[in-house]
Amino acid sequence: MKLFVFPGNIEDDILAIGAQQLPYMRTPFFSQIVKESQEMILSLMGCPKGRAIFLTASGTGAMDAVVANYVSTKSKAFIIVGGSFGKRWEDLCTYYNLPHVVSNVEFGKDLDYIKLEENLSREKPEVLLCQQHETSSGQCFDVKRIGDLCKKYNISLVVDVISSFLADPLSMDEFGIDICITSSQKGLNILPGISVIALSERLINYPFTSTNYYFDFKENLKNLTRGQTPYSPATSLFLQMHERLVRMSKEGLDNIIASVRDKALLFRELCQQNGWSSLAENPSNCITGFFLPKNGDVLFSKLMDSGFTIMPGGVPNYFRVSHLGVQSKEDLMSLAQAIMAIENGEK
Ligand SMILES: *Cc1c(COP(=O)(O)O)cnc(C)c1O
Repeated sequence: MKLFVFPGNIEDDILAIGAQQLPYMRTPFFSQIVKESQEMILSLMGCPKGRAIFLTASGTGAMDAVVANYVSTKSKAFIIVGGSFGKRWEDLCTYYNLPHVVSNVEFGKDLDYIKLEENLSREKPEVLLCQQHETSSGQCFDVKRIGDLCKKYNISLVVDVISSFLADPLSMDEFGIDICITSSQKGLNILPGISVIALSERLINYPFTSTNYYFDFKENLKNLTRGQTPYSPATSLFLQMHERLVRMSKEGLDNIIASVRDKALLFRELCQQNGWSSLAENPSNCITGFFLPKNGDVLFSKLMDSGFTIMPGGVPNYFRVSHLGVQSKEDLMSLAQAIMAIENGEK
């Protein structure tokens, strides 16, 4: 099966790591794995002097942890909601009863950065929560521009880069981001189960106040200094992540992003040739979203029968194809042919 979903197809030798007997984790060997993983991921995030907390949770667990430990210390949060993932920040702030204001952005549209500045200067929030890539629509926001505004108005910036990390250019230090979160099943292209919270150097001694026992930052940071997690880590997944990070560090961030972008551009070219219209105003390299004029109701299941899995979108006839994971240009061309055959009623 060719998987154009998250995490996508994974190399056999990475998968094989997960089939080994499980090593014990309270050992110098495992501490070394954690410490090296931290160093490699922070370097890829452009935040070499920060800290990376590893949670046994999917990405939403990391969002939850950030709201519980950090947003809870702020007088007001400003949330950019451009789709279901932005909405999740809003839901979490509502859940924890934290003061927040929401700025809704039309689905698939870019932010109006002038209006954003007006809103920030009027609302005076202490923290801004957003996504770099709103995965529901495919829209990529200009996080550097948001970072510049946050600097100007002295607002702390927290960015969910779960689906844009390793797909779109990012540097926490350069963009002025305090916290970035990601999770294992997106750009890292391994199974879901580990989420990562990267804290900038500025926050290492921050007085976090946790309202969540399992995700407590202070406890995690304390254990991290000896290369350990407070509770059982997802050990085998950690070993897969470590191997992935070794490979990606060798390849280099620019090359990784260029290869994802090449795949995205090729597939967008095929969409254009076939008349499948796109949605996002400024699309992330991570996914291509497109509308199918016909047979959208049967596309998903018929494609599965042909050996391809793609993601349905939230709206009728809208679909998303991920460019993360192992996929060749030939795979993308075969996918486009299979979609065309279904659209034409040949399948
Ligand atoms: C995938 C994703 C998440 C987290 O989803 P989980 O299913 O909890 O891993 C959050 N934000 C964005 C932008 C995502 O793409």
